[in-house]
Amino acid sequence: MTTRCGVIGYPLTHTRSPELHQAFAAQSGIALDYVVLSVEPEDFERAVAGFFDAGGRGLNVTLPYKANALALAGEAGEMAVRAGAANVLTRLDDGRLRADNVDGVGFLRDLKRLVFDPRGARVCILGAGGAAAGVACALLDADAAEVALLNRHAERAGKLVARLNDPRVHVHVTQTAGFDLLVNATSASLTGECPDFPDTLAGPAVLAYDLVYAETPTPFMQLATEHGARVSDGWGMLVEQAAESFRLWHGLRADTDPLLSNR
Ligand code: NAP
Repeated sequence: MTTRCGVIGYPLTHTRSPELHQAFAAQSGIALDYVVLSVEPEDFERAVAGFFDAGGRGLNVTLPYKANALALAGEAGEMAVRAGAANVLTRLDDGRLRADNVDGVGFLRDLKRLVFDPRGARVCILGAGGAAAGVACALLDADAAEVALLNRHAERAGKLVARLNDPRVHVHVTQTAGFDLLVNATSASLTGECPDFPDTLAGPAVLAYDLVYAETPTPFMQLATEHGARVSDGWGMLVEQAAESFRLWHGLRADTDPLLSNR
């Protein structure tokens, strides 16, 4: 029997989620139909309902719908509630939808691959959207010492600080050095832009991580490299969060190594 899963977002022009899930399905001998739903905001709820009413098992949710996905679910995992954003919807046996946020799990697994230990780390996150929230929660759970949030619209960073409600989290104000990890959790790279940040945040001894996955280094990665930082894009995180979604839907742990080594 073929299982139906997919990804929903807008606009969804170049997603690699189908290829990842089909690779995991092939490893496990699962027949999978993985669809791409690029739907405009006014059609979001109708598209989700239509997908699950037709027997769909699970949806990955990407921007701009992570908060909407949480709002329409009947049950939610702790990470999704804390982050105020969900990137996975799963149809439960009783017909209700469950919302989860596995961005943070994917991010931490990729940090491990990069041999970066978040315990005691001082972290600056650029951005304050759904991805920034998921990553911040995961870093706090992994015992990061400090998480500073720097967003284009500062009031949104303030709201996320209030939501996370942890003394280690604050809005970034003037500190320009001393961080171990700089995370670009903005969507600026998608349009070839680089978010504004003090150059000194990306000095030597810093891991500068762009959540966006890219064939060539993003402007953020280029700038960070110029300032001596070690850099990574978000391919590893994408692969790992896809594997975690796959586990939630099919109950099987996928082998991510072939996809991490051969992109
Ligand atoms: P979101 O909720 O829409 O938030 C977007 C964030 O980017 C906001 O903080 C926004 O700032 C900021 N931003 C957008 N354009 C900017 C620009 N030109 N300069 C500075 N800041 C800018 O999106 P999201 O869900 O958090 O996703 C953020 C990024 O992470 C996306 O690119 C997404 O593809 C990526 N992501 C990757 C993975 C992965 O597995 N690798 C997982 C999740 C997300 P304002 O609040 O000021 O508008």
